[in-house]
Amino acid sequence: MVSVWILGDQLLERHPALCAAAALAERANTTVLLIESEARLAQQPYHRRKLVLILSAMRHYAAMLGAAGYRVDLRRAPDFATGVRQHLAETGSHRMLTVAAAERGTRALQHALAQELPLELLPNTQFLCGQHDPLPDVPVTRRVVLETFYRAMRRHFGVLLDDGGNPLGGQWNYDAANRRPLPRTVVAPPAQQFVPDAITLATIDEVGQRAGIGDAAGFALPVTHADARQALDGFIAERLPRFGDYEDAMRADDGVLFHSVLSPALNIGLLEPLEVIRAAEHAYHAGSAPLNAVEGFVRQILGWREYMYWQYWRIGEQLVAANAWNAQRPLPAFFWDGTSDMHCLATVLRRVHQTGYAHHIERLMILSNLCLLAGITPAEVNAWFLASFVDAYDWVMVPNVFGMGLNADGGGVATKPYIASAAYIDRMSDYCGGCRFQPRARHGPAACPFTVLYWNFLLTHEAALRANPRLGPAVLGLRHLDDAERTAVRQTAAALLARWSNDPRP
Ligand SMILES: Cc1cc2nc3c(=O)[nH]c(=O)nc-3n(C[C@H](O)[C@H](O)[C@H](O)COP(=O)(O)OP(=O)(O)OC[C@H]3O[C@@H](n4cnc5c(N)ncnc54)[C@H](O)[C@@H]3O)c2cc1C
Repeated sequence: MVSVWILGDQLLERHPALCAAAALAERANTTVLLIESEARLAQQPYHRRKLVLILSAMRHYAAMLGAAGYRVDLRRAPDFATGVRQHLAETGSHRMLTVAAAERGTRALQHALAQELPLELLPNTQFLCGQHDPLPDVPVTRRVVLETFYRAMRRHFGVLLDDGGNPLGGQWNYDAANRRPLPRTVVAPPAQQFVPDAITLATIDEVGQRAGIGDAAGFALPVTHADARQALDGFIAERLPRFGDYEDAMRADDGVLFHSVLSPALNIGLLEPLEVIRAAEHAYHAGSAPLNAVEGFVRQILGWREYMYWQYWRIGEQLVAANAWNAQRPLPAFFWDGTSDMHCLATVLRRVHQTGYAHHIERLMILSNLCLLAGITPAEVNAWFLASFVDAYDWVMVPNVFGMGLNADGGGVATKPYIASAAYIDRMSDYCGGCRFQPRARHGPAACPFTVLYWNFLLTHEAALRANPRLGPAVLGLRHLDDAERTAVRQTAAALLARWSNDPRP
């Protein structure tokens, strides 16, 4: 008897350990182990919809494998190690295959178990850079920007290239064409909702009894490969064509706009990155989506997603210890309860609490921008993101929160801190129109906290920002502030931050 242990975020249709096991035993003599680990499920006060997603997808996967002729051991255990030991003792398996976990903690546990049990680890090929490292010999001390990594990945996987190996359209990147504010008249087709079946409904009931964030009811994400593919097809047909133009836009009455909402399925293996990339590429060649949209979308998956995973394994341990802006304040309570007078923040937090989702620009330019400007401790921000989002895992959170969102590494992952005042939010969204704060006022009770904290951040970190070639010009704006105004900005910011700090996590 051979066993294959599959983790809940590795629900691949063609799973490498199942392929390897096929060479060793018949399906009827292969037992697939799926562990619902109590310790893992309780590691954070997770969003309930994330728990439904993972548990229901595992249960559907178990049913699929059973129907395909495998023995399946889907078990609840106090933790992974106990589950593996119990399984081996009960089945008498002498050989167990598993794929290396995407996250550090679980991978370390797999290595430890492999020392004492007949457990063999196969390489993780769920990420394209796990199949081919585009920059294998770069020392960890050298900074590698996204663009270098992305071009190497495009070349290797032959994505959006002409016959001569050059980028289609003559440019590697259409970022400049992807920053348009959204006109009122443009309405995005909604993302598809998947009606829960009996397995998902039972899981929603069960998870509803657990501690966590948000409401499990209302869950409508895909939990099978077929549904995930339908979500992909729907996105490609309906929203991809305008993904590029409005990638950075935000709107109060629509938290998805032209984004794909594919990360929940991608991050647990229901979709594979290359099939998503090829589907987008196909839409370009078929003439149904323009190049700025397709390249912009491909950049997210083949670029940012792969780059984050690559950086996590390269410099992740340094990242979690980093705090370049010396941020020491506790996370304000409103992150957990969603109450805020700021229209943008209240709307995004309410949506995150409800659904476990916000699109990239709201994560970056509303949520983490505020935390960076307010000097919130990176570890607390990371814990909040990890708990609150349906698509959150250590490998994606560490580089996104410590690196991209908070610039805690001082510019290893992202070349500049993503900071902006409310002027940016006003330009890219309709939030400020419905808000009691004034986006352009720099101090005083009516000034938007984003703007107050932005100018306060520039004043506090002026020297460091001047040294950054991409931010030097922003600091030049300080010349318009005389001493009296600088003092007023500092005082308004200090009062605001004191209020937020006095009311930390409930
Ligand atoms: C502070 C912060 C926290 C984030 N937390 C997560 C997280 O917990 N889980 C997660 O998957 N992504 C995270 N991201 C990245 C990105 O915001 C989400 O992947 C994206 O919003 C998911 O929505 P979507 O599927 O509609 O994405 P789309 O905008 O449609 O993009 C397509 C896909 O590209 C990938 N992608 C794009 N940007 C990134 C990125 N920076 N890192 C990794 N993948 C990316 C995702 O797989 C996404 O599904 C975070 C970004 C920031 C700034």
